[in-house]
Amino acid sequence: MSTAIVWFRRDLRLADNPAFDAAVRAHDRVIAAYVHAPEEECAWAPGAASRWWLHHSLKALEASLAKHGGHLHVVAGPSLASLRDLIAASGATTVYFNRLYEPRIVRRDKAVRRALEQDGVAVASFNAALWCEPWDVETKQGGPYKVFTPFWRHLRTRIDGVEPLPAPSRLSFAEVGGGGSDAIDDLSLLPTRDWARGFSIWHPGEAGAWEMLSLFADDALAHYAESRDLPARHGTSRLSPHLHWGEISPLQVAAYLREQAARQRNAADIEPYLRQLGWREFGHHLLYHFPKTPTESFNPAFDGFQWAERDAHALRRWKQGRTGIPIVDAGMRELWATGWMHNRVRMLVASLLTKNLRQHWVLGEKWFWDTLVDADLANNAMGWQWVAGSGADAAPYFRIFNPVTQSEKFDPEGAYIRRWVPELADAPGRLVHAPWEDEAFLARSGYPRPMVDLKTSREAALGAYQALREKR
Ligand code: FAD
Repeated sequence: MSTAIVWFRRDLRLADNPAFDAAVRAHDRVIAAYVHAPEEECAWAPGAASRWWLHHSLKALEASLAKHGGHLHVVAGPSLASLRDLIAASGATTVYFNRLYEPRIVRRDKAVRRALEQDGVAVASFNAALWCEPWDVETKQGGPYKVFTPFWRHLRTRIDGVEPLPAPSRLSFAEVGGGGSDAIDDLSLLPTRDWARGFSIWHPGEAGAWEMLSLFADDALAHYAESRDLPARHGTSRLSPHLHWGEISPLQVAAYLREQAARQRNAADIEPYLRQLGWREFGHHLLYHFPKTPTESFNPAFDGFQWAERDAHALRRWKQGRTGIPIVDAGMRELWATGWMHNRVRMLVASLLTKNLRQHWVLGEKWFWDTLVDADLANNAMGWQWVAGSGADAAPYFRIFNPVTQSEKFDPEGAYIRRWVPELADAPGRLVHAPWEDEAFLARSGYPRPMVDLKTSREAALGAYQALREKR
């Protein structure tokens, strides 16, 4: 009887899981294992919102395995030592896992593989997270892409006709002798304060991911291109945390949407949506090839940029959604309450922090890391560097978002602001976007005065940018 370990990580699903599928096909019995070793990710160990998600996603995986007569073997401890213990207790001959692309995890996985192979244990790894892995896409000259459009043009030719794997049907699980499994509850992933109450809008796990995808396909896909920038609408898929934790794969998403589009008489154009998934692939491509981008400017010319001194008071007001700029505060409060923020608003809050307040983008990146349920090293670093102007294919620094005109354009009735900033729920007309324009209303509302003058801070940011150009 041969036994294999499937080392689950951020691939918390049974269908289209190549490591799980290969293990089940090649062995008589499998052990589904999750090793909790956040210290191996150092500064980028999952933040508080991610831990909340992980807790529930592991519970969902455990329940799915139980339906097939299995069990999720949970261990808290260093990855290599935990796998070795599990191998000794089960007699497993092979370890299967799906690859990840964060620099520390890549290094850790290589070391684990080397050590297990030296022990005489076979190791097999697979791609479960991306349409194409970072080393599998290169420019005509060779080397990684640094600009999105040519990257996407190339990638787009590679994604049709690849079908996801179904969930394995006949499963047989091995018993593990000796040590028992830890309980998911013992990992203490849930917050101790009652902060995540609003997270009940989410249903972590494979079934929750499919629920979200089918809702999106039925209600929003057909209007995605026009609605994706309107934060008051439910116009995007909200699949980001499910994709991050691997509860659904981009291959499954594309195949399902293609099928839905073909079935509907007015076939929805799925290209704008696929393109956004292309940005996710681009983020992973950049992180893999340029592993320092979570903390260092992608564009080294930005290293000399004159950031303002770290301002703890300003940072606190930004985090609390009390900047006095309504669209920014609405976004920051949505983030705190739900663990998610609309993409357009992410750009606006990041622009206020990095340009008007000239605080270093890493400060914002870290707050997002702790509070987003979809916190993802590749996408987060790319998003922050894109807005700050220091990233690959970034928005030019001199294009500074004006949060008032952006708010008027993308939230014209102020519905999004009214939802998240109750002080402004009854603001008449344009005042919802700029309440300071009526002193009497501002005083009545209890809403704070803007913490920064948008015009002069914009000019100061442009001045700092000009100084950087002159240094070069
Ligand atoms: P949809 O519009 O439905 O898009 C579908 C999927 O495509 C998303 O789930 C996501 O996986 C991917 N995607 C869409 N837009 C982007 C993008 N701009 N960059 C990369 N992938 C994209 N996304 C994260 O997943 N994790 C992060 O930590 C993260 N941090 C960000 C920080 C900043 C400052 C900015 C500007 C953007 C960040 N994004 C991040 C990208 C984007 O905001 C989210 O992916 C998107 O809002 C998720 O919502 P959705 O699933 O409804 O997106």
